[in-house]
Amino acid sequence: MKSIVNAKIVTSKEVLEGYVLTFNKKIISLNREIPKDTELIDAKGLYLSAGFIDIHIHGSNGYDVMDATPKALEEISKSILKTGTTSFLATTMTMSQEQITKALQNVQSFKQQEGARVLGVHLEGPFINPIKHGAQDPKHIQKPNIELIEPFMDIVKMITIAPEVEAGEEFIGYIKEHFPHIVLSIGHSNATYNEAKESFSWGVSHATHLFNAMNPLHHREPGIVGAILEADEVSCDIIADLIHIHPSFFKLLNRLKREQLILITDAMRAGCLKEGISEIGGQKVIVKDGEARLEDGTLAGSVLKLNEALRNFYKYTNISLSELINMVTVLPAKKLGLDIGFLEKGYKADLVLFDNEFRVHKSYINGIKTKIR
Ligand code: FE
Repeated sequence: MKSIVNAKIVTSKEVLEGYVLTFNKKIISLNREIPKDTELIDAKGLYLSAGFIDIHIHGSNGYDVMDATPKALEEISKSILKTGTTSFLATTMTMSQEQITKALQNVQSFKQQEGARVLGVHLEGPFINPIKHGAQDPKHIQKPNIELIEPFMDIVKMITIAPEVEAGEEFIGYIKEHFPHIVLSIGHSNATYNEAKESFSWGVSHATHLFNAMNPLHHREPGIVGAILEADEVSCDIIADLIHIHPSFFKLLNRLKREQLILITDAMRAGCLKEGISEIGGQKVIVKDGEARLEDGTLAGSVLKLNEALRNFYKYTNISLSELINMVTVLPAKKLGLDIGFLEKGYKADLVLFDNEFRVHKSYINGIKTKIR
C-alpha cells in the first residue's frame, strides 16, 4: 500500500490540498488520513491526477502502430509516459488489408511488460471518404466491410468511419447491434449536416478530430461540425496543437461541448523525436516547426504530446484545472467504459504527477511506478 501526501490533488470536480491518496493496484481511499503501514510518497507540492488517456495516437519515438511489431508497441508505450499518458488506443491507418490485419494481430497478441497501457485499437479508416482522406492513402480506402475486422472485435474499441459512403449505414447498424461497446466516430467524412445527424440516429456517437478532414462550418450548410455542436449527446475530440485548429475555437468549443470534448494527440512516429524526415502510412512526412506534413503540404497527424495539448488548451480558455484534466481522463474513460480516469475508490491506480507547466515528473500504472525516460 502506498500513500501520496503533499500533492494538489486534481479530482473530477475540484483541486484538493491536505488530502492523502492511498492505493495498491487500485485506489483505496482519498481522505485526510494517512493509514498505518503505508509507504509514504512526498509529492512535494506537485499536482496529482488520474493518468492521461489518448484515444488517438499512431506512433512515437520513431515507431508506428502500423509497423505491426511488438517492439513498436513497446517503444510507443514507454516513450509517451513522459507526456503523462498512462493508457492509449493504438490507432491504425488506411493501408493495405494485409498491413491492417498484421497490425491488428500484433495488438491482439501483444504481451505488455511496461509502459503506457494499450487499451485496444482505434481503427482510423479504411472505411472513409476519399474526398476527405487527409493523410490517409486514398488507394487503400475500402467500402465498410465487417469481414476485415471481425476476428479482432475483442481489441477494437473505436472506429473512425465516413457514414455517408456506400454500405455505411448497414455497417454501423451491424456494429451497433453486435458490438455495442465499440465507439463509432464520424471522421474523414464529407457528410452534410443532414447526413451527419442521420448517422447519430444509426449509432455514431463521436467525431474524430473535429474540423479536420471534414467540411468546414458554413452558415447555410453547417456540415458535420454544425451537427456535432448541436447534438448534446455526441462527443468529439480535437488536436489542440495550435496548428490543426485555431486556438480561438478552444473557448467556443469548451462552452458548447463542455462535457463532450476530449483532447487527443493524433501523434505519428515522429512524436517525441527531433524534427526531420519521417513517414506515415507509407508516405513521406516532413516534420518542421512543430508541424508534420506530407510532401504536398497536407497535415499528416501531429507531433503533439498530450501534456502539451493540456497546456495549450488551458492557455486559451479560463476553465478550471479539473475540467481541463477531465478532457484526458474522465471523459475518454467514460466514453470507452473503462475503470480508470477517476481518483475514486475502486478505480485502477493510474496516476500522474505534474507541475505548473504540465511537465510530468512521475506516473504510476496499476499502482506501480513507471520508468519515465
Ligand atoms: Fe489519425
